[in-house]
Amino acid sequence: SLNDEAGNGPAVASPSHDGRAPAHGGRARFDYLIVGAGFAGSVLAERLARGLDKRVLLIDRRPHIGGNAYDHLNDDGLLIHRYGPHIFHTNSQQVVDYLSRFTGWRPYEHRVLAQAAGQLVPIPINRTTVNRLYGLDLDEAGVATFLKSKAEPVAEVRTSEDVVVGAVGRELYETFFRGYTRKQWGLDPSELDRSVTARVPTRTNDDDRYFGDKFQMMPLHGYTRMFEAMLDHPNITLALGSDHRTVAREVRYDRLIFTGPVDEYFDFRFGRLPYRSLRFRHETVDREWFQPVGVVNYPAEEVAHTRITEYKHLTGQSHPRTALTYEYPSAEGDPYYPVPKPENAALYRQYQALADATPGVHFVGRLATYRYYNMDQVVGQALALYGRLAEAEAKGGTG
Ligand code: FAD
Ligand code: UDP
Repeated sequence: SLNDEAGNGPAVASPSHDGRAPAHGGRARFDYLIVGAGFAGSVLAERLARGLDKRVLLIDRRPHIGGNAYDHLNDDGLLIHRYGPHIFHTNSQQVVDYLSRFTGWRPYEHRVLAQAAGQLVPIPINRTTVNRLYGLDLDEAGVATFLKSKAEPVAEVRTSEDVVVGAVGRELYETFFRGYTRKQWGLDPSELDRSVTARVPTRTNDDDRYFGDKFQMMPLHGYTRMFEAMLDHPNITLALGSDHRTVAREVRYDRLIFTGPVDEYFDFRFGRLPYRSLRFRHETVDREWFQPVGVVNYPAEEVAHTRITEYKHLTGQSHPRTALTYEYPSAEGDPYYPVPKPENAALYRQYQALADATPGVHFVGRLATYRYYNMDQVVGQALALYGRLAEAEAKGGTG
């Protein structure tokens, strides 16, 4: 065991009704301690428990499962996402098949409008956006020619500024991307990898969906219900409100799966990896609808929030009132986003080398592998790790 020397502390036997690890109870020994009950930790807990019959202790320092995808009914009975809007989209049949074991789905195609020049126009930029902003009536070919005439040649597309300026020119870049990005990241787009703004495509047709993926839908009864179904297994012991450091001292386990920030695991040995945070302002307003679509973006730098989400569009809930979340980017607070830029990648590589050289510990998920991953990518990454663990097991190896 990795922590045999700590093996005489109080053992966790089973979760009590409030999910906290009881300080008493029979001595327990787990095959795996999994830190973090978000997508990465929950998928692995489910797979190891059901697929390999392993005994798993799954912990989270928060008082709930689901990680950043956690949703719940607010005081008004409206389903909201505590950590901002989570829309499921993927091209992976494997990920859809896997999650479909735990939830049904509600078809939902996400649409976003941006407040620009006093009006609400589609983002990603499409034919409508161009025609509305410039008072034109161009067809698809006309929009392509128009954007080409505006685009600035960029020798090597390296940054998040290059991506947009090279596709649509400086004016549309400033209207939609410069201010939004400076707020969201506290950095100029010229300082961020191209992968950040490349998440948002440019279109010349009328497609106004935010995502182009083959599968776009929401878990029928929400994310938390899906996680509950996933974790409902006798081999899984759940301890909420439990920090890794404390639990690791108190329980015995053979292997560790860590889904928190990788720099924290190693006591910030090489310095802090920057993670961007957000402050969320949740409110219910006393009217049936607030805005025409699920999310409205506010790219102007003078407006403090980046976007407002109205959940009923996402959830399909009927209710006389409506719940909103405003997002205010922040350097302080829970880590939500890795910050994609070259220096951070270099610092992460140092931690990654250390992680690779730490036997019996596996790092997985958005925070632990410092990757700007969507939910489906985290599920895919977790299933891939499970595949490797199962294979090692079949070979009788210890990994
Ligand atoms: P997390 O969900 O962050 O889970 C990690 C868990 O580990 C946390 O609950 C944390 O409390 C716990 N933890 C960390 N350290 C410790 C410790 N030392 N001890 C105990 N517990 C610990 N993805 C999409 O696909 N679509 C979207 O629309 C979308 N929107 C998003 C909007 C926002 C505002 C944010 C922030 C993210 C969004 N994402 C979206 C990304 C999505 O949230 C992530 O891909 C996914 O939740 C990552 O899962 P994870 O398990 O890696 O990490
Ligand atoms: N972005 C922008 N303006 C927009 C939408 C996105 O500048 O109207 C940029 C911004 O840098 C943002 C990135 O594109 O952080 C990725 O956007 P996405 O909506 O994917 O962000 P997320 O939902 O992950 O916060």
